[in-house]
Amino acid sequence: MNDYLQYKKSLAKFNPDNYGLASIDLNPTELCNRLCHFCPRSSFYPNLNLNMSLESADLLHRRLVEFDYQGAITIAGKGEPLLNKKIFGIITILNFWNPILITNGDSILKDNTIAKRLFDSGLHQIIISEYDSMKKTEIWDELFEGRNYIVKDLTKGAEPYFNNRGGSFDTINNSLEQTCYFPFYKVTINYDLSLNFCINDWKYKEEIGNLNKDSLKDIWMGNRMMAYRKKLIEKKRCDINACKKCDAGGTLIGQESFEWFQKL
Ligand code: SF4
Repeated sequence: MNDYLQYKKSLAKFNPDNYGLASIDLNPTELCNRLCHFCPRSSFYPNLNLNMSLESADLLHRRLVEFDYQGAITIAGKGEPLLNKKIFGIITILNFWNPILITNGDSILKDNTIAKRLFDSGLHQIIISEYDSMKKTEIWDELFEGRNYIVKDLTKGAEPYFNNRGGSFDTINNSLEQTCYFPFYKVTINYDLSLNFCINDWKYKEEIGNLNKDSLKDIWMGNRMMAYRKKLIEKKRCDINACKKCDAGGTLIGQESFEWFQKL
């Protein structure tokens, strides 16, 4: 857990030229092939075959260049990214940013050419979320020999890494009176180039804009995001739908970005 946290911290480097935005979580598909008990898909979240197109990936590329984005891109999101049939093209378009992909690995086990194609497309690193058995590590070692990969052990439960996803599960009755750094350093970009206020907002899906219409800077520094941040600086999670029943601690990563916004 601590090693993985340190690793995640190392990816989210503060950069004032990017207005504190250090990490983009890309959600290339709304489709998943699993139904895990800790995921909102096990209760209300729909499984939809909606996928990022190459045209959208091209526009995203242009928006990132325009922003001079220097941070990390993690391809993970709310679905299983390898179910997007265009995933190799998307990685190729975004490979300047050394993308990292998080997967349950099921598609790779069905087609052992996928691993090579991912890295040939410019993938920097793959993270396998291993839910079944660490005995499969031998398979991953063989498939990814010489490649940059991590196997994340989730076989004993996903809890150390997860929270209640913006109140998607009833784990607390009252709002936590504390801040949260997520919207200060990280943003989620969906398959249709809409942006969500927080990666953990699975329930309300509060959109802060869409790159089809606006620049990344206009959205990231726009009035809606700044209003959310003001509430979080004031520790008023209770005033934001997604935050009022969220149990995420939210302060492990992103402190420098938070402090930068505090001084604005
Ligand atoms: S409190 Fe939860 S929903 Fe709100 S910003 Fe933090 S992680 Fe996101």
